[in-house]
Amino acid sequence: MGSNKDIELIEDGKRMDGREFDELREITIKAGVLKRADGSAYLEWGKNKIMAAVYGPREMHPRHAQETRKAVVRARYNMAAFSVPDRKRPGPDRRSIEISKLVSEALEKVVFTEKYPRSVIDVFIEVLQASAGTRCGGLTAASVALADAGIPMSDLVASCASGKIEGQVVLDLGKNEDNYGQADVPVGYIPRSDDICLLQMDGNLTEEEYEEAMDMAIEACKEIHGIQREALRERYSTELKDENEKDLAEGV
Ligand code: UDP
Repeated sequence: MGSNKDIELIEDGKRMDGREFDELREITIKAGVLKRADGSAYLEWGKNKIMAAVYGPREMHPRHAQETRKAVVRARYNMAAFSVPDRKRPGPDRRSIEISKLVSEALEKVVFTEKYPRSVIDVFIEVLQASAGTRCGGLTAASVALADAGIPMSDLVASCASGKIEGQVVLDLGKNEDNYGQADVPVGYIPRSDDICLLQMDGNLTEEEYEEAMDMAIEACKEIHGIQREALRERYSTELKDENEKDLAEGV
């Protein structure tokens, strides 16, 4: 968040990239893209490119980190060195540790962790190209990857940010909007229970603006939830088709 008088984020009622105030960037999700992970998903969201991979449930190591009554959901968010214009120094930093923690906590709200005591479910989020909104993209992809891994969950978490630019509440801030806007509010949402599982705010909003921003983000999350489900449906139908073709070839 910052201000730069030279940059006009809204012109003739439209945003810099031509979007309406409540319009998402284009989102595509593909489930089951990695052979060696138990579950995976690849997401493109505007210019963001994010891979999520799930391993587990498997025995938690180190053992002192085990929970006797439930599994631990251990997400690790990482930005590739080449994902941003200025090379990102490899390895964890304060920001990635924070994002890993809040993604883990958001996913724990939907995973039936009590089914797997002493286990860990590892969720790797690799940001290959970043352009604002990667924590929301990462969480959205991760929950599809968990479902792809067959982990029992109450619902898929969908995530999207809203915020404020030039005094206007808008959905899904792009890179310049994130840099030069006035507020950014990432939201994680569980549609089935109507629960919020992630909420942060950078910048300032009035109470009315906050309400508007939340409504916008939740509506968008419902739309994203549809895209997530479609990705899983597509994955499942392709798998069935492949199995049928294999059976036919083998004369089963
Ligand atoms: N960013 C960057 N270098 C960094 C961290 C972030 O260039 O080390 C960029 C990246 O495009 C990211 C954006 O700043 O998407 C916004 O970062 P923020 O911390 O707000 O998280 P995000 O919006 O990605 O969840």
